[in-house]
Amino acid sequence: MSHDADVVVIGAGVVGLAAAAALARAGRTVIVLERHDGIARETTSRNSEVIHAGIYYPAGSLKAELCVAGRRELYARCRDRGVSHRRTGKLIVATSEAELGVLEGIQATARQNGVELEHRDAAAVAEIEPHVRALGALLSPETGIVDAHGYALSFQAEAEAHGAVVALQTEALAVERDTAGWRVDARSGAPGAGAEVQQLRAGAVVNAAGLEADRVAERAGLDVDACGYRLHYCKGDYFSLAPSSPVRLDHLVYPVPAQAGLGIHATLDLGGRIRFGPDTEYVTAVGYEIDASKAAGFAQAVARYLPGVSPSDLSPDYAGIRPKLAGPGGGFADFVVSEESDRGLPGLVNCIGIESPGLTAATAIADRVVSLLA
Ligand SMILES: Cc1cc2nc3c(=O)[nH]c(=O)nc-3n(C[C@H](O)[C@H](O)[C@H](O)COP(=O)(O)OP(=O)(O)OC[C@H]3O[C@@H](n4cnc5c(N)ncnc54)[C@H](O)[C@@H]3O)c2cc1C
Repeated sequence: MSHDADVVVIGAGVVGLAAAAALARAGRTVIVLERHDGIARETTSRNSEVIHAGIYYPAGSLKAELCVAGRRELYARCRDRGVSHRRTGKLIVATSEAELGVLEGIQATARQNGVELEHRDAAAVAEIEPHVRALGALLSPETGIVDAHGYALSFQAEAEAHGAVVALQTEALAVERDTAGWRVDARSGAPGAGAEVQQLRAGAVVNAAGLEADRVAERAGLDVDACGYRLHYCKGDYFSLAPSSPVRLDHLVYPVPAQAGLGIHATLDLGGRIRFGPDTEYVTAVGYEIDASKAAGFAQAVARYLPGVSPSDLSPDYAGIRPKLAGPGGGFADFVVSEESDRGLPGLVNCIGIESPGLTAATAIADRVVSLLA
């Protein structure tokens, strides 16, 4: 039976689009299915837009390896393709003696990942960031910020230039393996406008469905609980700092990491505006509303290292949801980027649990997908 494409990619976030571009570049015919009427409408456009250096992840983990490789490729790609970005650098600040000890552990982990961090004492921190109060800090020169939507668009453009088709408003329903390969039922059309279901045939399927990736894997025939693929949603809210605030920053500023996230940190957007977040709140459904009364808690968390910020300076900005493999109180969980021949489903590549640093790691995840399907 002839195939409509060598590979169907489910999801046009940064991971699906990067995979599509890499596969198309390698000569594969590719169809990307995206249920929304535009690309990158979910987690890819709801994050800190930070180019992570690869500091915190255990040595040998996929997160460490793919973040470091992806970050290098990201800077080169942004330069070559004119995607807005800036190598701001980042300070991880200690505000107590105990946290100074934690910095040493962070520096050791980073070094194992091939990432060099530079120590700064309190006076040096005050010199480079006069508004920040810290007993000491680690400076990460390789950390930066990127226009995440522009970055995702660069992959769409490259994929399409190599013949890939990105089908918007097209949702993957059934995903089934049979002797001829894969069949994906794709429903297209605007909601309520007489949807049409088409059966696509492909040699392989890449599941890059973000928050839905566990459900797509389940539809493809996997017992996701037995595989450890069940996702937990962990919401993160952001508050922006009023432009009238006298606080100014040149670097991203992070506290020492907290459970389930990196702590409420200060990031900059490409326009130089400061925002704080994300916090961590496990939720059971997707929803992006922000409780404005959280401003006081945000200001309190931030005041440890930026004493000049008060609740009245903060306004709810936006929220994102992490597709986490670790539930509340759970420890480190790595990315899953896995070809499922061993589970009887050859040609299915699952990308599951692609939380941070998935934006930074996207090209490296894509390279791995290509090699898994080689
Ligand atoms: C709060 C927060 C902060 C973060 N900060 C950073 C950061 O600073 N730096 C960093 O590197 N990473 C960060 N990340 C992680 C990063 O945003 C993600 O790893 C990355 O965006 C994941 O991209 P994706 O393509 O896997 O998922 P998504 O962007 O969610 O894309 C998945 C797509 O699949 C589509 N889809 C789902 N089901 C179907 C279906 N059945 N049919 C068709 N389409 C479907 C969805 O509509 C969606 O468009 C952060 C994440 C969060 C939540």
